[in-house]
Amino acid sequence: MKIHNFSAGPCILPQEVFDKMAHAVLNFNNSGSSIVEISHRRADAQEVIDTAISLVRELLNVPDTHEIIFTQGGASLQFVMLPFNLMKLDGGKAAFTETGVWAQKAIKEAKRLGHVEVVASSSDKNFNYIPKDFVVPDDVDYFHCTSNNTIFGTQMKSFPEVNVPMVCDMSSDILSKSIDVSKFDVIYAGAQKNMGPAGSAVTIINKEVLGKTGRDIPSYLNYQTHISKGSAFNTWPVLSIYGVMLNLQWLKNLGGVPAISKINQQKAELMYSEIDRNGMFIGTAEKEDRSEMNATFVLKDENLKPEFDKIWKEAGISSLNGHRDVGGYRASMYNALPLESVQVLVDVMKEFERKFG
Ligand SMILES: *Cc1c(COP(=O)(O)O)cnc(C)c1O
Repeated sequence: MKIHNFSAGPCILPQEVFDKMAHAVLNFNNSGSSIVEISHRRADAQEVIDTAISLVRELLNVPDTHEIIFTQGGASLQFVMLPFNLMKLDGGKAAFTETGVWAQKAIKEAKRLGHVEVVASSSDKNFNYIPKDFVVPDDVDYFHCTSNNTIFGTQMKSFPEVNVPMVCDMSSDILSKSIDVSKFDVIYAGAQKNMGPAGSAVTIINKEVLGKTGRDIPSYLNYQTHISKGSAFNTWPVLSIYGVMLNLQWLKNLGGVPAISKINQQKAELMYSEIDRNGMFIGTAEKEDRSEMNATFVLKDENLKPEFDKIWKEAGISSLNGHRDVGGYRASMYNALPLESVQVLVDVMKEFERKFG
């Protein structure tokens, strides 16, 4: 049976990416060696990471002012690396928006190195909206926001104008729609939401903001280390980055970010119009802040959960349950999820309404 994978991460990837990765595990580039046993210093491995980096640059129109690195540790290590690289040693201060669990985790790590001012929070309504009217003070070392709140299903549709370096955790919507990278000083994203298999994070850094903290930064945590070594400071996850590279090639062949952005809009439109039309369900995020990537909803009658779960599982849908902290349902519609899969889910919701409404 065809599986429709609505997982929030690790995400669905295109079949051709899986096929090529599988082949590379057996015989990488017809070299007779598996990609998992070769040295990360070999020329053909080097080409993988160089290609992945140049595809990120091309697909996101990253300007020359910005460097691109891959590191391990996912987005969670970026919560740590960021303050080490941007927060001043003496009297360091940062401003954050608190729009969900990931933002809270980023705040927690920044607090270890300096003062954090939460300039806006949606915690009063269990993070079901994006706060809009807030002021970022000019005296902070940087401002941090989370573009897409994977767990709660909200997404920033615009970014504030600020007079300090702007940092964004784009883990769950990077490469899903066009953004102006030049407006940001640091963008980071764990790979496994929309870019490839788990095992790395990409960070895009405006060189101008580095070297100003007065800190002695541990080597691995220092952005400069990875910039100067072309992301090959230590053994990097060759298979995982190969998956990222293949996925970026797939995206490029499809027409790049503008092309996928249109498809993502169609998927979100189809999904949300059914949530709104169908009396059996309630969308949990404020309409204007709804995420194109993660649609969150609950049953109007929680007692019918076993019946609904049975129908969607029988249709080949997987990973539709909401995050363990919030419950309900979450349909994650990352780049590689076809429109057809959303249609299958919508049909299931209609069938559920016919049978139990
Ligand atoms: C998943 C996620 C993270 C954490 O990513 P890891 O790579 O698992 O550390 C951080 N931020 C956002 C927005 C996420 O969706």
